[in-house]
Amino acid sequence: MTHAVDTNTSEEQRSVYHLVCHDCPTESVIAGERVAQEQLEAHRAETGHNVELAPITAVELE
Ligand SMILES: [Zn+2]
Repeated sequence: MTHAVDTNTSEEQRSVYHLVCHDCPTESVIAGERVAQEQLEAHRAETGHNVELAPITAVELE
């Protein structure tokens, strides 16, 4: 099942972040720094995994 990210064009949602876990196959692209941070904290709290968040800029999308 694909979890589609809502396309929200509000200012807070313009930044896109790549969330990747080093301890399991969890990986997702999240729009909005606050949301991305929440997802990171949630996965870390839930699993104790080493989760990393990297900002994706327009130039790195290719
Ligand atoms: Zn994980």
